[in-house]
Amino acid sequence: MNKPLTRLSPPAEPREFGFFLDGRAVPAGERSLIERRSPAHDVPVTRIPHCTQDDLDAAVAAARRAFDDRRWSGLSGAARAGVLLKAGALIRERAEEIAYFETLENGKPIAQARGEVAGCADMFEYASGLARSLHGDSFNNLGDGMFGIVTREPVGVVGLITPWNFPFLILCERVPYILASGCTIVAKPSEVTSASTLLLAGILTEAGLPDGCMNVVTGPGSSIGQGMIEHMDIDMLSFTGSTGVGRRCVEAAARSNFKKLGLELGGKNPQIVFADADLEDAADGVAFGIAFNTGQCCVSGSRLIVERSVADRFAAMVQAKLERVRIGDPLDESTQVGAITTEAQNATILGYLRKGQEEGARLLCGGTVADLGAGRFIGPAIFTDVTRDMSIVRDEIFGPVLTILPFDTLDEAVEIANDTIYGLAASVWSQDIDKALTVTRRVRAGRFWVNTTLAGGPELPLGGFKQSGWGREAGMYGVEEYTQVKSVHVEIGKRRHWGA
Ligand code: NDP
Repeated sequence: MNKPLTRLSPPAEPREFGFFLDGRAVPAGERSLIERRSPAHDVPVTRIPHCTQDDLDAAVAAARRAFDDRRWSGLSGAARAGVLLKAGALIRERAEEIAYFETLENGKPIAQARGEVAGCADMFEYASGLARSLHGDSFNNLGDGMFGIVTREPVGVVGLITPWNFPFLILCERVPYILASGCTIVAKPSEVTSASTLLLAGILTEAGLPDGCMNVVTGPGSSIGQGMIEHMDIDMLSFTGSTGVGRRCVEAAARSNFKKLGLELGGKNPQIVFADADLEDAADGVAFGIAFNTGQCCVSGSRLIVERSVADRFAAMVQAKLERVRIGDPLDESTQVGAITTEAQNATILGYLRKGQEEGARLLCGGTVADLGAGRFIGPAIFTDVTRDMSIVRDEIFGPVLTILPFDTLDEAVEIANDTIYGLAASVWSQDIDKALTVTRRVRAGRFWVNTTLAGGPELPLGGFKQSGWGREAGMYGVEEYTQVKSVHVEIGKRRHWGA
């Protein structure tokens, strides 16, 4: 099943998926269907059920039962690890199918999708070890009459709302860690990219995850997503998406049951390039950082902050790289940049390209709608002659649009980098270790790269400072996020009486 598909073209008929409840796929039945058209080929590729509030309630009830009767949290870490390891192996076996649907629904290049799916299997394998290592603390210093224990307990039922830009990767940066903690899940993928989440739910059941521990409801954010953030029986919500909906999550949690929140929101991430950097390396990294996933990436390096003495030369180097990027059919194995995922996102990006020029910035390259058949394609763009108050510098565009600002001193570079409401990620490029580490310390961002960008993996935590969000995903931090701490005082020997 893991052989590369012989015919890499869209399917003749869209594949219909059910939603996932209590261990099994439920066909749409009387429910209406949401059809997804490939953004690169403009043909229907998948159909999913438009779930109802009753479906959501049933999914939450299934997850609640599975949590309360301890069928998952009551297992040993070793037993949970076994399921996660098996799931990792099954993801590897079904990688080709997952990557195919990811590409069809999202528009990302198939080679990239394959890489992401392999990374996701790795997440499961790594998290399996964490299921066994998760532990609390003890206090043996409370005197002979008292012993203190701090335990970590799973939070309970977790609602998981994921976006369309990395449907499988973002899912797998969360699911194995949530399951390692002993929690149960109700997931809601974006209505435009639900297939890989539904495939994962089936894989988890096949791997031996008890029924009810992973449920998936499908449908629009405005109804099903909103129902989740307001739900009284969801104990924690992990949301990844726009800052606007993140704010709604906070408001809804306050209005409902004060559910714990993990939020990974937007970014407007600086790439600081010093004149002493390996400029060839840095230009390649900066081009990759803005073009990867067509810039529809919360950690994309969209603000280039470059030392003035090399600014023009460096801009020309990045431009040369971007003009060579292979844009095209994402099912073609040689494609580097695929289609823009949604019509709305396409309109947003084109709007910013217009606005940037109206505001007086100079479009150095790109920004043209590539004529590649039925799909939505935009060539990676660079703006120079920008000022810090321009919307293209301040707003998260979520597209392949790079702005360039020069700096003269390290302090100025740091000040420009921090001049944003966001704090998700940043990169610094320099061969001077003192400069690189000083900048790493002073720029306020949850993820940092030195002489590289967009590096990741299952070990290090993910998350943002400032308005980029709350909490951390992945690594042991990511497992602990889905636990709460209980302190236990244990009396040793006979208790001294209050009245004595
Ligand atoms: P949203 O925040 O609307 O979507 C993210 C997820 O939230 C999707 O699953 C969506 O479902 C769901 N959702 C939408 N409305 C609600 C709601 N009221 N309650 C609960 N869940 C909801 O992002 P958009 O798709 O509109 O993208 C807009 C902008 O957000 C982008 O331009 C980008 O700036 C940012 N973004 C950031 C991401 C990140 O990785 N940090 C990811 C995606 C977007 P559905 O899609 O089914 O409506």
